[in-house]
Amino acid sequence: MHVDVSILEQVYQVDILGRGLDPLFAGAYDAIGESPLQAAARELASSLDKHESVAILTGFPILWTLSGETDGPPGAAVLAQVISHRNPIVVVTDRYSKQIMQRLLEEVRVEARIILIENLVRMPNWTTRFLDENHVKVLIAIERPGANRVGVHHNLSGLSITHLSGNTDPLFAEARRRGLLRIAIGDGGNELGMGLVEQLVRRYIPYGNVCRCPCRQGIAAAEGCDYLLIAGVSNLGGYALAAAVAVLGNLPYVHDAEQEARLVRSAIAAGAVDGVTGAADELVDGMPLTRSMQFVEKIRRLYQRLRR
Ligand SMILES: [Zn+2]
Repeated sequence: MHVDVSILEQVYQVDILGRGLDPLFAGAYDAIGESPLQAAARELASSLDKHESVAILTGFPILWTLSGETDGPPGAAVLAQVISHRNPIVVVTDRYSKQIMQRLLEEVRVEARIILIENLVRMPNWTTRFLDENHVKVLIAIERPGANRVGVHHNLSGLSITHLSGNTDPLFAEARRRGLLRIAIGDGGNELGMGLVEQLVRRYIPYGNVCRCPCRQGIAAAEGCDYLLIAGVSNLGGYALAAAVAVLGNLPYVHDAEQEARLVRSAIAAGAVDGVTGAADELVDGMPLTRSMQFVEKIRRLYQRLRR
């Protein structure tokens, strides 16, 4: 079914936090010559197959609180809610976001394996084993740390979080070698998959080119992806992709303001903090939950219109 779902981009391609994302929105488009959302949703919808898994990589550790954040896991959960109607889901995250993901998957009633990256990397040939044993055909990273060109993961303050994050980059690298579909969602330039617009991150994002950690090589992530969704807030990019795939793949999409409130509150109850303030308040990247709920309703209305 061909439907133009790119109208959903208007909801999340907004630089809500004033991070200097406008050139990146354009860069993600230029990198593939079409709407990243349209392309990602089309390829994802056509890859859905009950015999193959979709791996969702998420979780961004916060340096000062040693916890996960409210941005990322809710987006991952809503993607899982839609995709799990057709594919098994396997979630890869770190110890700081594991409980959060567990709770959110219960909220959206998805049964999925959650694998800790810290355990995974201890196995020999872990990337190959993970992809083979789980029959992974598609990888989606949402708000997941991505290493810069010298292998350091950073937060947006330009400081290293490498000792906390666990390293999922090699999964994307192995998937690239195998030609598996790789979709990434981020909102800062330091996330896995942002390598697709690395030069723009270096040029336009604070600490993009020179960080504050001893590596001095900038926060710009090096590993790219096939389709990059740059969002003002990553969750919104995840919701929009989930809605777009639901339209193109003829799957149910039920995320609404009420579920949004439940997911963010459950994430906080499971230990998540706001990534900007570091507080356990009802915020997502510094944005009040009420505002996030408005964006969610906008996506839902567009979904309903596109389904007609
Ligand atoms: Zn650094």
